[in-house]
Amino acid sequence: MEQQNTSVTMEKIVSLAKRRGFVFPSSEIYGGFAAVYDFGPYGVELAKNIREAWWQAMVHDHDNIVGLDSAIFMHPRVWEASGHIGGFSDPLAECKKCQTRSRVDHLLEEIGVQADEKMTESEINALFDEHKSKIACPKCGQKEWSEAKNFNLLVESNLGDFTGTGENKTYLRGETCQGIYINFKNVLDSTRVKVPFGIAQIGKAFRNEITARQFIFRKREFEQMEMQFFVHPSEAERFYNEWKEKRFQYYIDLGIKPENLKWHEHENLVFYAKAAWDIEYRYPFGFKELEGVHNRSDYDLTQHSKFSGTDLSYRDPMTNEKFMPWIVETSVGLDRTFLAVLCDAYTEEEISEGDTRVVLKFPKKLAPVQVAVFPLMKNKPELVTKAREVFDMLRPHLRCEFDDNGNVGKRYRRQDEIGTPACITIDFDTLENDTVTVRDRDSMEQCRVAIAELKNYL
Ligand code: ATP
Repeated sequence: MEQQNTSVTMEKIVSLAKRRGFVFPSSEIYGGFAAVYDFGPYGVELAKNIREAWWQAMVHDHDNIVGLDSAIFMHPRVWEASGHIGGFSDPLAECKKCQTRSRVDHLLEEIGVQADEKMTESEINALFDEHKSKIACPKCGQKEWSEAKNFNLLVESNLGDFTGTGENKTYLRGETCQGIYINFKNVLDSTRVKVPFGIAQIGKAFRNEITARQFIFRKREFEQMEMQFFVHPSEAERFYNEWKEKRFQYYIDLGIKPENLKWHEHENLVFYAKAAWDIEYRYPFGFKELEGVHNRSDYDLTQHSKFSGTDLSYRDPMTNEKFMPWIVETSVGLDRTFLAVLCDAYTEEEISEGDTRVVLKFPKKLAPVQVAVFPLMKNKPELVTKAREVFDMLRPHLRCEFDDNGNVGKRYRRQDEIGTPACITIDFDTLENDTVTVRDRDSMEQCRVAIAELKNYL
């Protein structure tokens, strides 16, 4: 059994996320909408900072990677070529007692039996049959199951289908990378990139996930940050190893604790994949996939060449060699990164006997608010005016929040819970000598800093 992160529980994370405006269940006033969530005022800031950190590391820090923002909707043939219409499915079984649907591979995993991604419906059924009498329904605890059936995860839409017959079915994209493959030629023809190079994209993806029990870890509408790196076949392995190393280091640089990260190798690869490893994070429910790094061979460009009739092979301008590029993919969920960052930052501390605080120790660059500015008292106009001056001075440089609600102690607690690294208090001494109190989130130490020095100090 893997060691779990003991002080952080999902109940605490879900509750803090709601209470402090990070994540709200979707459509809550209508009773909620399963596996769909909204980012609140602090969540949207954290998500934006995560996107920016990824974009910086992937696009701006590499002169051979360019960005793309392809549409959510694509020609339906894209999903035939990619294999999603035929094979993008998970095995599902229904509890005969309470009708709760569960993913069969996850149920088997719970009792230590590994299901293989490549298994056919009858193979997984045979394995499930062998073990299902030992598996309890996660909702009602009964052990009576239906047969396992493969359930396709693609979300259908009627976009552009004016006949109403359902014949021209379109899909919300199940992954963002297909938008990259179908634009491979456009990017080559319109920019100065040459193989080896990468295309990076951040965007929404949709999957009819069977189970919806792990908060934002498994959403039906989620966001992916994917980079597809196109290489000569002979160099695929070298680049694969390079990207594996870079992507693991990225999380360390982001500020994630190394002991909460590990590699997991896929045991049985889909036929076209040459290598597949996941970076796993130790969520409160155990080590689970955060990012996949895959060597996809020439499968994607070959398939799209075949299905579209457009030759997507590449001619090397130096050697004149023509070949179908291989793809090294790095694919991570924004929401899973968000949850990892939140869990990693979550800390409970006893500050004096019987008095504890909850503090989110976010890395400074990810914190939704970087500096909070307080007037000591809100009913003293001279303090409020001075505090506003300091706030206005800092806000072009840092993400700032002005807070004059309740006493200063309460304001500190609130800022701790949203992970603000520094709080500045304007008091009566400020009016005399132009210095302020700066309180550090992690050490809780306070020091006096001259207003003129504040920007440098922070
Ligand atoms: P899982 O095995 O957990 O279902 P997957 O292997 O199907 O994930 P990929 O298709 O490789 O996931 O997608 C790449 C990344 O997108 C994942 O590593 C994950 O971070 C993210 N992701 C996938 N599905 C979801 C989801 N339903 N909700 C949130 N993030 C997701």
